[in-house]
Amino acid sequence: MTNESKEVAYNSKIEGEIIVTRADAVINWIRSHSVWPMPMGLACCAIELMAAGGSRFDISRFGMEVMRFSPRQSDCMIVAGTVTYKMAEVVRRIYDQMAEPKWVVAMGACASTGGMYRSYAVLQGVDRIVPVDVYVSGCPPRPEALLDAMIKLQEKIGHENSAERLFQRNAKQIRAS
Ligand code: SF4
Repeated sequence: MTNESKEVAYNSKIEGEIIVTRADAVINWIRSHSVWPMPMGLACCAIELMAAGGSRFDISRFGMEVMRFSPRQSDCMIVAGTVTYKMAEVVRRIYDQMAEPKWVVAMGACASTGGMYRSYAVLQGVDRIVPVDVYVSGCPPRPEALLDAMIKLQEKIGHENSAERLFQRNAKQIRAS
């Protein structure tokens, strides 16, 4: 029978191939293994992001190779590079156009903190304009570091209260209609 500490369980008293689980476990498992990244390549870190998609590092092992260049079709913005004030508005607008649920990875020193560019033209961390879920250190971080960050993001998605949030959103929509 179901056990609070386990994500899936098998009940031998029920005939057939039946597995009992929690809604959260199923939703989070699906979401964490089908992340579609929005590659926000802004500077040199973007080259490492591209390398992560190549056969040597192969981000598709994690179901994340479907890089979308449309915010309507992506759910994880990977900010790779220096965020200037000129681009900050664009980054925020694209983030706003992405559908919920969505996540953000700040790849590299520049995206995380402004890096070496302590100047009037550079935003000192993309978390000033969008909520960041995972930071990747390095200048530039290697593709393995990005893969490590994506695995951490999967773990984070795995602990979300997805079912509760879905029910709350549906209830709000029913009340509003
Ligand atoms: S962190 Fe380094 S490699 Fe990445 S965008 Fe900034 S300067 Fe370039």
